[in-house]
Amino acid sequence: MTEELVCPICREQGDILIDIGCPAKHSFHSACIAAWLTIKFSCPMCRQNLSIKIETSNVFMAYLEVKYAGFTGSTYYEETKQIFNNLTQKAQAECIIKDYRLFTLLQENQKTLDLCILVVKGRGQMLKYVPEELKSEELCRLALDQTQYAFEFIPDQLKTPMMCFKAVSKVPSFLRFCVPKKIITSEFLISLLCNDVDFLDFLPEELKTLKVYQLLASKNMTIFYRLPQNVRNELVRI
Ligand SMILES: [Zn+2]
Ligand SMILES: [Zn+2]
Repeated sequence: MTEELVCPICREQGDILIDIGCPAKHSFHSACIAAWLTIKFSCPMCRQNLSIKIETSNVFMAYLEVKYAGFTGSTYYEETKQIFNNLTQKAQAECIIKDYRLFTLLQENQKTLDLCILVVKGRGQMLKYVPEELKSEELCRLALDQTQYAFEFIPDQLKTPMMCFKAVSKVPSFLRFCVPKKIITSEFLISLLCNDVDFLDFLPEELKTLKVYQLLASKNMTIFYRLPQNVRNELVRI
């Protein structure tokens, strides 16, 4: 990068020229080269195919900027995926730090543990795109520290009662869909109750029994008044 060079595309000096990584080190304005790269992903001077050469994220990010200007969706075209998959690991990581969505463009076998850690640390929901075999308890915790919405992407066998408790405390609807059944014990429900978590509407179907209702109502009378009339009648009779 030097300001004395002339950009071969617009023939002008000034601004910073980016080295696109071809062996001859041809450099361009990012806006100038980006437009070209959306047509052909090679150096316009020496025609070097850039797919497997690129070491820096600048070129790819410039390409994305032009190609998807104003595009806010989360799916990219096949061609973009291919180009991204051919970047060096270092360049991919740089790109992903700039835009976490790019992690979804990687093939499963390209998702290294280091990269997964980096991504979930930055954006917990990205746990969704981490390959199952790389989801460790530690990684899941990292994601959960970021946001409770990572909870639904944690494999059941890694969910601890404490994790579940924290998640349901913040999002009670998790109780119905995301907490492993074996974790929902009487003690678990009572501890939620004692912490004023309003989970009654999200009790899993199989737990809507008189026995459970009786237990809950015995700990907290206001629950009793929220039960259906027929359940209340039953409980009174017991
Ligand atoms: Zn230029
Ligand atoms: Zn070149």
